[in-house]
Amino acid sequence: MSDNLKAYSWKNPIFWILCILLMFIAIGCKSEAENGENIRIAVATFSHETCTFCPRPTTIEDWEFYGPPTRELFDSNRGYIGGFKSMCDEYGGVELVGILSPRGARGGSSGSWITTEAFDKYSNLIVDDLKQAGNLDGVFLSLHGAMAVTGIPKPEAELVRRVRKAAGDIPIMVTLDLHANEDHELSDAADAVFIIKRYPHYDTTLIGERAARVMIKTIRGLYKPTMATRKPGVITPSVYQGTGVSPAMEIMERARRWECQHPDTYVSVAFGFAYADVPDVGATVMVVTNNDQKLADRIADDMSDYIWRRRKTFAGKKLPKTKQGVALAVAAARAGKTPVVIADHSDRTGGSTHILEELIKQGAENFCITTLRDEKAIDEIKANYKVGDSVSIDLGGYSDKFAGNPVRIEGKVEFLGDYARGTVAVLLFGKNNRVILTPQLMQVTTPSIFKPLGIDLDSLDIIVLKSRVHFRRGFYETDLAGAIFEVDAPGWGPADLTTLPYENIPKDIYPVYKKD
Ligand SMILES: [Zn+2]
Repeated sequence: MSDNLKAYSWKNPIFWILCILLMFIAIGCKSEAENGENIRIAVATFSHETCTFCPRPTTIEDWEFYGPPTRELFDSNRGYIGGFKSMCDEYGGVELVGILSPRGARGGSSGSWITTEAFDKYSNLIVDDLKQAGNLDGVFLSLHGAMAVTGIPKPEAELVRRVRKAAGDIPIMVTLDLHANEDHELSDAADAVFIIKRYPHYDTTLIGERAARVMIKTIRGLYKPTMATRKPGVITPSVYQGTGVSPAMEIMERARRWECQHPDTYVSVAFGFAYADVPDVGATVMVVTNNDQKLADRIADDMSDYIWRRRKTFAGKKLPKTKQGVALAVAAARAGKTPVVIADHSDRTGGSTHILEELIKQGAENFCITTLRDEKAIDEIKANYKVGDSVSIDLGGYSDKFAGNPVRIEGKVEFLGDYARGTVAVLLFGKNNRVILTPQLMQVTTPSIFKPLGIDLDSLDIIVLKSRVHFRRGFYETDLAGAIFEVDAPGWGPADLTTLPYENIPKDIYPVYKKD
């Protein structure tokens, strides 16, 4: 054997060193994302829809109260993260890394300005956990988009910039709610943004799936997300944004048409959340194409122009005020169109009594206020009464300055116990009338609340819901409601946006400043 060949003999230590080196190289190659194996994607969420006009700021404790931050994000195949997960499972070879994230917040969108400390605390939590997550190929952020933070004008964009700093130059993709208030700052910071198209929000799972598909294709070098963002300059109240009616329905249909004409193109429209006094308020168009800036710009211009052309029908409906709306509902109930649903859409804090007071005044029967937020009344009932006791108590009227007068109820305690995330009481009074008391704002979207509380749905003629459009999933799309009345009672969520004391929104937005 020659000296040269000796190096390749199994007896030679150099042979073994070479073998081990080759093994490491092979393992290294296999773990690379381009080979379609072992992609690692971090998943985090930080969502809030902030009603900046509402009285109570949203603090660190509001998240801790609702439930401490958790990594357990993958408990369902539904929703943004569930959809993202199920598409990753379908592709295979993807490891999802749950990042410590705050979930929900006490009182949902009845919370006002998020404190800077709360935003910093939970953003840092996400960023610090990302830094511990090891090598990542991408980051998926499930956000809402209507967060408002004291001292931070565009918080979602700021969050993505902080995540970018920690994660480096890897794809960062974001999903948003249809009520998002965003602009180009978010699309500049993220690689791609996807927004749901339906209100009620039926398509959160679908949009999570889309985000995953584009993320995986991007990581594997098969897609180059290229975005265009436009602000049409239109702001609309939530109660007009239901996508089952025009023009909201036609706007989304136009977006879907563009998507069908250009595969691999994603056309999103957020209608915005008018009750956040922020500089990027109102409708936003965001288009993602595969490396085609011209196409992205063309579609974004078309969608933005279309929304502007439809502004008058979108923002200019008129709704009945309390007295007239309640009279219409009572008349419909007496005509047998039961159950009649009243959407008390403008009550953003949950404790408004205008409609309760007016129903009593107009002699309504068989009605149920579903729900009235009154934590003090619940405490008083818990301390002094039990189920079956007669009760005489003042209800509501203090959750914000538009909440109306406290209403005196003489009746009996029909239910007292835990439901959802707190103690709930049901009081029965008058001619088979009820009020469901909750400790926080509760938006009821389906009739499933009644049975556990011992309420017979068939006995109800009028159901009053603190909801704008989401109630339609359980009361309209199921053909349950005999008639629906959206009533414009006083509140921090009015249909007429010109009545709100805005300070931070653009000075040329329709219909608040620009009238035509
Ligand atoms: Zn929404």
